[in-house]
Amino acid sequence: MRAFNPKRGWAKYLFLFFLSLGVLSPCYAEDPRFSADAEIIVFVTNSGKKYHRDGCSSLSRSKIALSLGDAARAYGPCSICRPPSPEKAALTPPLSSALYRVSVAEPPGFSAVDISRLLRAEVVDHVDGDTVRVRIANPPPELGPVETIRLIGVDTPETVHPRKEVEPLGREASDFTKTRLLGKTVYLAFDWDLRDRYNRLLAYIYTEEGLCHNAEIIRAGFGHAYTRFSFRFMEEFRVLERGARENRRGLWE
Ligand SMILES: [Zn+2]
Repeated sequence: MRAFNPKRGWAKYLFLFFLSLGVLSPCYAEDPRFSADAEIIVFVTNSGKKYHRDGCSSLSRSKIALSLGDAARAYGPCSICRPPSPEKAALTPPLSSALYRVSVAEPPGFSAVDISRLLRAEVVDHVDGDTVRVRIANPPPELGPVETIRLIGVDTPETVHPRKEVEPLGREASDFTKTRLLGKTVYLAFDWDLRDRYNRLLAYIYTEEGLCHNAEIIRAGFGHAYTRFSFRFMEEFRVLERGARENRRGLWE
């Protein structure tokens, strides 16, 4: 049997007719990754009373995608994954399509990631284990050509705090990031908040091999999962930290 081909004769017009009716449009128009004014998608289950971010440990197989507005009318926010309220979402400006925001999209995960969708940058300076400076060749409107990045969801021991001593393993954690990132091409993905109160960019940094460096720090035991502020990979980072503790890596030796 010949596959349906929208370029073929009358089939094209039939296809456009259905498209114009809106029957087929959800497949194309609603992918939040490619829209600057994306709707926030959250998930509910058949039996639950809460709405969740994708990937929440309390989501079952029966997860159902809803827009945040619809979900918040009938469900409460989950206390584990802490999805945003519509009020918070309204205060968060949409990002241009060059910025891949994991909280509204299928997350890229931690390894073997397709980095082609992420924003490319060069690491030009190294501050400590969880902070670097990058240069962005063609920055989108939200970003400058050079930005300080605070890695999302990970906290490494202090090395540069003006009033604190260098903490144990601070130097090792700092060297771990320096060795892996300094001078390298990296790829950036973003989460709920674009910047912190020090105006640092909040990002996940992926290497050219498609590894999430934020996760690698925790996996290697050079940092804690930093769960004070919610982020998309909170549960996954907690699991990585538990693994590092159990295997007595880095800080947990
Ligand atoms: Zn949840």
